[in-house]
Amino acid sequence: MFTVYNNYAGANCPGLALLRSQCGGTRTEQHRWIWQPVTFATTSAIAPQAMVNAAADLWNAIQMPSKVNFSSDTSGHWDVNVLDARIMPGYAGATVVYSQEFCNPGCLNRILECNGTCIRPGSIYVVQTALDVIEIDNYAMAWGSDRNTVTTTVVRHELGHVIGVGEAAAPSKICSEAQALLNVSPDLVLGCGITAPTACDRTGINTVYSVGPGSCPTNIQSNCSGNC
Ligand SMILES: [Zn+2]
Repeated sequence: MFTVYNNYAGANCPGLALLRSQCGGTRTEQHRWIWQPVTFATTSAIAPQAMVNAAADLWNAIQMPSKVNFSSDTSGHWDVNVLDARIMPGYAGATVVYSQEFCNPGCLNRILECNGTCIRPGSIYVVQTALDVIEIDNYAMAWGSDRNTVTTTVVRHELGHVIGVGEAAAPSKICSEAQALLNVSPDLVLGCGITAPTACDRTGINTVYSVGPGSCPTNIQSNCSGNC
């Protein structure tokens, strides 16, 4: 017995990522960066700097018009850290977005020093992207692939979430649904040969950001004035 699925006819692009605020918060809303470029570093043993740089370059290149660019210049601060952690079975990567609402109220007004925007609930101010080498190896085995290839795909997928974009659905798990790197199904992304962000992922960015945030120099330090 097997099921025959019709090809997915429509567009299947990612969009908003409605998130519940962290640190005891109760709001559920779209989180967005309010500055760019977003600076990133990696402490992951399986995702070296060159791998993350290449992923960031792809996300920068796909944006037309430019919305939220990445920079690897962490001489002043970092906004995103890529790290290794155990997540949970089936999850090769996970991106955790921290907003201002409850995690750090009245603090981190760095933005005032550059483009003048106030951090408010729903503003992203730091992100951690975790990679789970055990689950990545499981996927590599299942797909006859290798750790480096799967990690590369996972890092690229997660950086889309770092920007703030959600996931495209995979109701039937067929390749015609796999139009975006940000498809919810790793099986579709890996098995259907999606290795980089697509025009459909760009649609997702443009859904989340009508315009990109103002720029903030990468050498600006975080501070905690409490006034905003
Ligand atoms: Zn995802």
